[in-house]
Amino acid sequence: MNNLWKTHEVNNQFDELTDYNLFATDTVMNEYLKQYNLENYISILQNTGAKLGTKESFEKGTRCNLLGPTLKAFDRKGNRIDQVEFHPDWHYFMSEAKKTGLISFPYENNQKGRWVFAAMNFILQSQVEPGALCPATMTQASIPLIQKEERLWDELKSKLLSREYDERDIPVKDKKSIWIGMGMTEKQGGSDVRSNTTIAKRSNILNTGYKEFLLTGHKWFFSAPMCDAHLVVAQIEDNGQLACFYVPRWKPNGDKNPIEIQRLKEKIGNNSNSSSEVEFKNAWGILIGEEGRGIPTIIEMATFTRLNCVLGATAIIRQATVQAYSYALKRMVFGKKLIDQPLMRSVLTELALENEAASITSLFLADNFENSDSSETAKAFRRTITPAAKYWICKKSIEVSAEAMEVFGGNGYVNDGIMARLFKEAPVNSIWEGSGNVMCLDVLRSIKKDPNDLKLVFDYLLEIAQKDSGLTNQIKVLKQWLQDNIETNFEAKARLFTEQLILIVQACLLLKHSPKEVFQAFYDTRLNSTKQGHFLGSNVLTPEVTTIVLSRIINH
Ligand SMILES: Cc1cc2nc3c(=O)[nH]c(=O)nc-3n(C[C@H](O)[C@H](O)[C@H](O)COP(=O)(O)OP(=O)(O)OC[C@H]3O[C@@H](n4cnc5c(N)ncnc54)[C@H](O)[C@@H]3O)c2cc1C
Repeated sequence: MNNLWKTHEVNNQFDELTDYNLFATDTVMNEYLKQYNLENYISILQNTGAKLGTKESFEKGTRCNLLGPTLKAFDRKGNRIDQVEFHPDWHYFMSEAKKTGLISFPYENNQKGRWVFAAMNFILQSQVEPGALCPATMTQASIPLIQKEERLWDELKSKLLSREYDERDIPVKDKKSIWIGMGMTEKQGGSDVRSNTTIAKRSNILNTGYKEFLLTGHKWFFSAPMCDAHLVVAQIEDNGQLACFYVPRWKPNGDKNPIEIQRLKEKIGNNSNSSSEVEFKNAWGILIGEEGRGIPTIIEMATFTRLNCVLGATAIIRQATVQAYSYALKRMVFGKKLIDQPLMRSVLTELALENEAASITSLFLADNFENSDSSETAKAFRRTITPAAKYWICKKSIEVSAEAMEVFGGNGYVNDGIMARLFKEAPVNSIWEGSGNVMCLDVLRSIKKDPNDLKLVFDYLLEIAQKDSGLTNQIKVLKQWLQDNIETNFEAKARLFTEQLILIVQACLLLKHSPKEVFQAFYDTRLNSTKQGHFLGSNVLTPEVTTIVLSRIINH
């Protein structure tokens, strides 16, 4: 009977890859842990990778993005409640972010590899559901700032480092664990935080012993407004100085803090997460850092969130590459599997190169965050290469996710699959926490402010590059170019310089960590004069090299 209604057999159609271990299949992560004697983290990451990689986990990621949050500004009786309601799967990923330690682990102990472990967890979770990692990032990045405020840190430490998830909308003192957001961007300016007009008026209204202020004004992008507190930049009323304030959702006396959510942004992607517009109506807050130091204070926080943008973009590149590759293993075109079509092999090989370069850069940067208190070189990399990597890897993730989506043909463009979600997510990492140009200008600012940073970076790179005369020469050429150009219209050349710098960093890291064929393929197609086309897939490598590079996408 059913056959009467059947017009055709469905064949040559394949689901995206699920039910695989995200960690075990990641060649770069596994090799890195072994190279640095960090095998003690492997079994935990194996468990996390298996759990995140299930079909159910991917479905949860899809659901909470398709069925995003809604604002409930008022209750049934018309009282303001300013609450955001989420899909239950959102809470699942928020809970996982706490549980795996991707937020707290670097601050829980001094264990070697703690930043790399947290970074790996971040990259794994972000491949399935990146939205929850927005509040996770901001919470993690707030910790170094709050640590400097002795009394506040005493009050919040256990809640910030807790591995439990407490979603209740109640005052901080009653919560087991908390989330912190950040509020800088206003209508008239986001990159230029100096233009902030929110006013902070001195007040001792709650007599807490803290330096209390009442804030009036707005924030135009205020992500995760259900966070238990935000670090907010505002101008002090009586001296016009910018400062940073800790502004909780509930006041210490148990009253709701008057932070009104005007509406939620209708975003292109990042849909599981809520980003809002808010107004402060005498919202209570306390001073963080010094008066007049609002920008350096919040920029310190941004250094950490920028690392996480790099990790998030790496996750997109990784997941897009894995999905494209495994689809190509199955889909038939013109009588052959896609993977056996020479031109598709060229495309996938370049995706694989970007995957390997982004992954190793991310792990290396995370390690520099760990060591920047004890090593001047690590500090120099953290300061100079974090913005360069944020610029480059975030932009690459846009290109890679578009190309990987195209491997799926029309199916890639359909909204309820992961390829579309990766593509829509990609630009946000490039825009927030300092957009592309701002990152390149930051690289310039950092090398002008402390030229020794770049010297340390170049010295380190030259040491690695000793093994390769071509790469050594590239570094020398860039150093000379810098000398010739730094005094003339240098701002206009910031992208040019940053691109060359980060490509050299990536090539050096591949030379140090990856098989020589991978390094050579990357070098020949991105730095050497042998580079050919512009789009991914337009560089042609030998069949032997192609096979080696492709074999590293999925670790067996
Ligand atoms: C989904 C989402 C969530 C966000 N969440 C938050 C949040 O929680 N808290 C928060 O504070 N902000 C948040 N933001 C805001 C984000 O950080 C800003 O949008 C970003 O910093 C850029 O600021 P802007 O939008 O005002 O653009 P502008 O500052 O106007 O910049 C516009 C463009 O000009 C470029 N530009 C700026 N200065 C220069 C220059 N000197 N030379 C050359 N080019 C320049 C920039 O790179 C950018 O491309 C969020 C944004 C998005 C998209």
